[in-house]
Amino acid sequence: MTKTELEQAEQDPDLIALSRQFKATAMELISVLEQKQKTVSRTKVLLDTVPVYRLADIFVASFEISFEEQLSMLDSVDLKVRLSKATELVDRHLQSILVAEKITQKVEGQLSKSQKEFLLRQQMRAIKEELGDNDDDEDDVVALERKMQTAGMPANIWKHAQRELRRLRKMQPQQPGYSSSRAYLELLADLPWQKVSEERELDLRAAKESLDRDHYGLTKVKQRIIEYLAVRKLKPDARGPVLCFVGPPGVGKTSLASSIAKALNRKFIRISLGGVKDEADIRGHRRTYIGSMPGRLIDGLKRVSVSNPVMLLDEIDKTGSDVRGDPASALLEVLDPEQNKTFNDHYLNVPFDLSKVIFVATANRMQPIPPPLLDRMEVIELPGYTPEEKLRIAMKHLIPRVLEQHGLSSAYLQIPEAMVRLIIERYTREAGVRNLERNLASLARAAAVKVAEQANTLRLGKEIQPITTTLLDSRLADGGEVEMEVIPMGHDISNTYENPSPMIVDEAMLEKVLGPPRFDDGEAADRVASPGVSVGLVWTSFGGEVQFVEATAMAGKGDLHLTGQLGDVIKESAQLALTWVRARAADLNLSPTSDINLLESRDIHIHFPAGAVPKDGPSAGVTLVTSLVSLFSNRKVRADTAMTGEMTLRGLVLPVGGVKDKVLAAHRYGIKRVILPERNLKDLTEVPSPILSGMEILLVKRIEEVLGHAFEDGCPLRSRSKL
Ligand code: ADP
Repeated sequence: MTKTELEQAEQDPDLIALSRQFKATAMELISVLEQKQKTVSRTKVLLDTVPVYRLADIFVASFEISFEEQLSMLDSVDLKVRLSKATELVDRHLQSILVAEKITQKVEGQLSKSQKEFLLRQQMRAIKEELGDNDDDEDDVVALERKMQTAGMPANIWKHAQRELRRLRKMQPQQPGYSSSRAYLELLADLPWQKVSEERELDLRAAKESLDRDHYGLTKVKQRIIEYLAVRKLKPDARGPVLCFVGPPGVGKTSLASSIAKALNRKFIRISLGGVKDEADIRGHRRTYIGSMPGRLIDGLKRVSVSNPVMLLDEIDKTGSDVRGDPASALLEVLDPEQNKTFNDHYLNVPFDLSKVIFVATANRMQPIPPPLLDRMEVIELPGYTPEEKLRIAMKHLIPRVLEQHGLSSAYLQIPEAMVRLIIERYTREAGVRNLERNLASLARAAAVKVAEQANTLRLGKEIQPITTTLLDSRLADGGEVEMEVIPMGHDISNTYENPSPMIVDEAMLEKVLGPPRFDDGEAADRVASPGVSVGLVWTSFGGEVQFVEATAMAGKGDLHLTGQLGDVIKESAQLALTWVRARAADLNLSPTSDINLLESRDIHIHFPAGAVPKDGPSAGVTLVTSLVSLFSNRKVRADTAMTGEMTLRGLVLPVGGVKDKVLAAHRYGIKRVILPERNLKDLTEVPSPILSGMEILLVKRIEEVLGHAFEDGCPLRSRSKL
């Protein structure tokens, strides 16, 4: 360029702007560089003295740029183009320096922290060595490895465990993954990969004796258990069915299962499945989750530490499914002999062999168990006990056990049969014997206080705190409340004290300790004192129950109101019952002619008391009709009669389930007559004959017969032929 050209160009405003931008960027680059190299200050001077275009050339020449870029730079003869290209290059250089700097800063920070830690740790180790202290963490890992070696893992799992152990070794105990990795290895080491309890030669006679010793009655159930054991004896690896005890609470399901374990000389573990909705409860969480755990089965096996226990899957009917998966399908895999050889717990992440475990399940009801699961199991039903059976169980099993648990013996407390009968009648109304046992425990507690107190005044020295009589009195006074826990006294009182005479429970003591009677036979009579109430029999997970049905009418528009937490089926039964009664109004003498609407300007309300308990099922059909007929005819239903049965729209009575439990429930309530569908006749063989003989069983085919039995003076039918 000639000088004039140059001078001209310098006047160009575009060029001026470009030079300014270039200088600013260059300045920035220099100041960044300045922090690193002091020599840069010379370049700064250059910036002020040398003309811009030359400066651009100097800068660009000092960068490492590609050949193409160098070429394009040389190629740009025009000052402006060259300047803008140079600015771009300077800026790029500046940015790359800045980014690089940021990264180094970060890395340096981390490095120095870990280096510091490492250094401190080295020092700590040196100090410990100097002091003669062992390094706990290191030792722990060695101990863990030793435990893992003796765990008897299969070869492939051992390899996997080794890999995990190597990882653990590389970690510092403070590192985030350390404890979870450790817990995992502990689990691997604790699991019973090979450990089994020695199975001794099964002595069937001894097993039978032990079953008989621990359980009263239940002949059929015990027989089935013996059969099961016999098959196992002949073919130990037979894939027998999984036994499932179904029955109300407190009928001995758990204790039968533990008897099986005892007979087989195996350990017993109970896995409670009640309320399990998450598949992870069965299968565990994957270890990627924070706070992940193995499933209940693997956890249970870790606790019993043998791979062949008897495992009780308790309340298998209470598992539900929701968005978190379906526990039932996981259980399906557990119970399938084809699949459970390689059970995969998500947490464990290596297969575990469950095929040696003997599974036994319990359930209150069969119906909620998913059919595929039910298919894997053999159901053994345990219906409730009769009062006579309860009495025998109490005398033979419960009282001795309760006395022992409280450190008493019959030398201190005697509960006569008549009193046990009273407890059964007045204080419990259950299918099983759990509340009975609790009530007996209450008596034992009260007696224990008295015995301790007497002995205290008689013989004890100062070293034992005196228990004042007010304690007992206040305990007796508040009565009623029956607590669940049994606190063993730790030692036998009889060894310590000499009791002058045993305490014999009488009615007064019953009332003092247990409070006023909770149930009496007059309840049904009180409740059916007005028209519109009928007595039904239902089946719940607690066994059979008496269910009253109340109906009432009021001014309205002909609507039907239903309350008492009813399911769809029972609601439809109510509709059906109302339709049937309306259709037969004239025949039933409820209205003078058949064209009169029974619901004319009135609403009907039907309620099932115990409003908080959900109810469903079709078996309330006949009870609903009876209640409505009673309401419209303004006649009371017989208080000594209870009924059950599904009804069709045409008035046929269909058979229902749970007949034995229902009859027993009626008996508990002191009901003398029970109306049952004729086709349930076969189920009556299950009902103990002493109960049947004290009751009148009325078998019916049609609803008219039900009505005939339910009212004092028979069915109010006008003409049978029409129906
Ligand atoms: P479930 O598991 O059915 O709810 P449990 O097995 O826990 O009931 O039984 C409750 C209590 O009743 C236990 O103490 C059990 O020993 C006792 N029991 C139940 N049935 C019998 C029986 N037939 N003979 C002796 N004791 C029984």
